[in-house]
Amino acid sequence: MTIGVWILGDQLIENHPILAELEANKKEVIVILIESLNHIKKRNYHQQKLIFIWSAMRHYAEELRINNWQINYQIVENFDEGLFNTIQKYSLTEIRTITPCDRTFLQSIKNLKLNCEVKLYPNPNFLWQPEEFKQWADKRKRLILEDFYRESRKRWQILLTENNQPVGGKWNLDKENRKPPKNNLSPPQPLVFKLDNITKKVIEKVNKLDIKTYGNSDKFNWAVTRKDALKVLDNFINYRLEKFGTYQDAMITNQEFMWHSLISPYLNVGLLQPLEVIKTVERAYYEKSFPLNSVEGFIRQILGWREYMYGIYHYVEEDYFQANWFNHQHPLPSFFWDSNQAKMNCLKQVLKQTENTGYAHHIQRLMIISNYALIKGISPQEIENWFHSAYIDAYDWVMQTNVLGMGQFADGGLLASKPYASSANYINKMSDYCSNCSYNPKEKTTENACPFNYLYWDFLARHEEKLRSQGRMNLVLKHLEKMSPDELNKIHNLASSTIE
Ligand code: FAD
Ligand code: SF4
Repeated sequence: MTIGVWILGDQLIENHPILAELEANKKEVIVILIESLNHIKKRNYHQQKLIFIWSAMRHYAEELRINNWQINYQIVENFDEGLFNTIQKYSLTEIRTITPCDRTFLQSIKNLKLNCEVKLYPNPNFLWQPEEFKQWADKRKRLILEDFYRESRKRWQILLTENNQPVGGKWNLDKENRKPPKNNLSPPQPLVFKLDNITKKVIEKVNKLDIKTYGNSDKFNWAVTRKDALKVLDNFINYRLEKFGTYQDAMITNQEFMWHSLISPYLNVGLLQPLEVIKTVERAYYEKSFPLNSVEGFIRQILGWREYMYGIYHYVEEDYFQANWFNHQHPLPSFFWDSNQAKMNCLKQVLKQTENTGYAHHIQRLMIISNYALIKGISPQEIENWFHSAYIDAYDWVMQTNVLGMGQFADGGLLASKPYASSANYINKMSDYCSNCSYNPKEKTTENACPFNYLYWDFLARHEEKLRSQGRMNLVLKHLEKMSPDELNKIHNLASSTIE
């Protein structure tokens, strides 16, 4: 009996649960990894995303080979072909794989007509399995992140006193976080990784691909092995964690990474595991006395937000991806694919950095790019597709919840309690982008008024009725009521005629 263990590109886990189970029978096991070209034709993926995944897969396969596993690494048009080839070549009687995170991919595995059994295992890249999240969610009237986060803290015993109370007395220290950037802040630079032969070969392959891609590969600087991903985590703890909370939302020109951890690509492909990251950061808090606002704030991102997003993705109906509560239909402007065409400085900066790195931090994604798409009225599906193409850490599970739910409010408030829409005020306060922009962040209706201002007020006016049903919008709608018809008219004309 020969068993195939199929390892997907986002399941590069060191202590792989299926391999651990089969360790004693290595000779009867074929480990399958498949690079599929069809899979990447679905959208214009960032070149660095392709390099990252393929290089990480090839390194992972090499490490398994060194540990005496038999590897069948295939580069084929599609996954079915790769599996059929292996079943035939090795007369496999069974294929075992970890349940994919993405619902559509899981369905396509279930639809495969293979002449051997496929056995699915729970996915260890998340602490809450979908059934566990469902049990938690089914008991509640409303789903609220804070409730889930507290439950998670208790379940995994993180930052708790002996009486199961939060260390420091509060569950959430967000009020101490999110300071605007001060002058002369100099965030630490990220680690630099030298390209080895495996990565160089993958870069060559990606550069020769006869399909449309996004961004560039010149500045590829992501870890592609667990060893290097651990170095990124270590670097974060030593040089970034201290100020993580304080400047979590700040944005500075040419400072792409600020005090963020840069570990999402590794968590999402299994090179780092969520509990090990959380425990390492918790340990650093006790051993090195890092500020609690930073430690709690960071742990909440992973133990709270990341798990919550994954749970919600599996909890909602299958047609969630089509959600469009505001019925936004505007097409995505072409400058999203080429930052040189963007005139608004905040967008230009974030788009340029995305092209160069495949990365933007949370507030850049939420309050610049997604905020713009929301108030402009861009189709949620078009902006979701762009996010999915552009970011190094993007997958279906994390896109639908973050972009459609949190960013575009396309689910009508299932995930967020109000739309993340804002005028230039927020961007001007939290970044230095406006000081270098041809638009004026203080103006709403003049010739060089910032588009974020008139698009924002026009968005509120267009959807006033719907927004009234969201209690948390009433204060801002009161400001709208005070605007004269003449001012609203000017705002509407600017919003409808702008090319931005
Ligand atoms: P840090 O700021 O250092 O945060 C630590 C970790 O917390 C992250 O690595 C991530 O694993 C986790 N995290 C924090 N917030 C979230 C969240 N809302 N959802 C899931 N995980 C979270 N995250 C992705 O992993 N992939 C995406 O494609 C992605 N797209 C996003 C799109 C939009 C519109 C928004 C608003 C958020 C998106 N996020 C996404 C969440 C978050 O912005 C990124 O996880 C984070 O910027 C990654 O950088 P970092 O590792 O330096 O994060
Ligand atoms: Fe962005 Fe407006 Fe500021 Fe320019 S003025 S950077 S468009 S918010």
